[in-house]
Amino acid sequence: MSENEISIKKETPFFQPLLNIKMSPIVKIAEMARQLEPEYEAKHGSKFIHLERGEIDLNTPKEIINAINQKFLEGKTKYPKSGGELELKKRIAEKLRTQNQIPDIEPEDIVVTLGGQEALNLSFQLFANKVGAGFSPIWSVAIENFFPYSNITFLEVPLNKDFSIDYESLESVFHRIDFFYLNNPQNPSGKVFSKEEIERVVDLCKYHNVFLISDEAYEHIIFDGKTFTSAASIAAEKGFTNVITTYTYSKSFAATGIRVGYAVSKNKKAISLIGAAQYTHAAGAPTAVQLGLVDAYDVDLSGFIAEFQARRDALYNGLQKIESIKVNKPEGAFYMYPDFSEALKNKGLQPHQLMDVLIENGVIVVPGSAFTKQGYFEGYARLSFSAVNVEQIEVAVERLAKLFS
Ligand code: PMP
Repeated sequence: MSENEISIKKETPFFQPLLNIKMSPIVKIAEMARQLEPEYEAKHGSKFIHLERGEIDLNTPKEIINAINQKFLEGKTKYPKSGGELELKKRIAEKLRTQNQIPDIEPEDIVVTLGGQEALNLSFQLFANKVGAGFSPIWSVAIENFFPYSNITFLEVPLNKDFSIDYESLESVFHRIDFFYLNNPQNPSGKVFSKEEIERVVDLCKYHNVFLISDEAYEHIIFDGKTFTSAASIAAEKGFTNVITTYTYSKSFAATGIRVGYAVSKNKKAISLIGAAQYTHAAGAPTAVQLGLVDAYDVDLSGFIAEFQARRDALYNGLQKIESIKVNKPEGAFYMYPDFSEALKNKGLQPHQLMDVLIENGVIVVPGSAFTKQGYFEGYARLSFSAVNVEQIEVAVERLAKLFS
């Protein structure tokens, strides 16, 4: 036995379940693109169009940066209050009651976390070693990171081709699960679940005594003036309190690096355990940053949302003209999840060749396989318009049209 084999053998029993966590395929693709870009540029005299990133290219509003800086200058550099600064939680509670229509929320129902990512991970940890389900396609971090981290068995319920819910497959999982994960608006499809759809999910959770974990990270990025419905507001109408909702400042304020989010639940046990776990993990989110965010929800987001809508329109209208690419119009978030299978077939290519052929043609995407563990949505890809302007989108569409028309 070689030395390497011995060390692997020794480590394996100790490091479970963390050994099952995979680094995000999106990070890997971004890295690969970085390596290949100089060669493409030298050959074609133009750059890649990066549709793989979830990062946002717009600036964080100045008011927020100034407010955070001010709190640092005031010396707010000591430990934060456990569970989150009261001043911030009061404003969050008010926002949840008025914007999200979740009644009776008080500061003690909220735990401030390091981004939506930590809020979600702690919520899933409540269900360690249990079984959960959610719609597929699904955010890659959930299947590659959160579920392995908590050793959760996860069942994917595939959405229909138009991203509507197949209620028969949805209902079929409920007798086997402890929680249901709903991400609305959804990454990677850009789907916004309607009030009626959420109601059906809530009813099933209530009937089967299943917890609902509602990830509403993209709550503000909603197009065409539509309204967004928080699952917890519907649950409250039905007297169902076993809901944990997670939010973040990352997306709404183009502030992915400030790392503040929160979890909220009217289930006292769940929220107090999330608070205890958050303290164990990180002992809070940075004090000055929390205090600097107190007035964040007063910032006008209309220009920011209009920019994403213009990008969505440019990408959707462009792709619609390419007959072999099938695309649903995103209603929120900043992703699109088109089906390239016919386009690939016409060129005699297999689904796994999509990434390579697109890279050769200067367009970087994330293959659909990153958003399912159960092999759904073959030939799909996620196109993100979070870090590309309308002109860049038009170039990407031109390249795709040349390749697939
Ligand atoms: N939920 C979804 C669906 C996301 O896509 C993300 C970030 N990409 C998050 C939650 C968490 O974001 P953050 O940790 O930056 O708040």
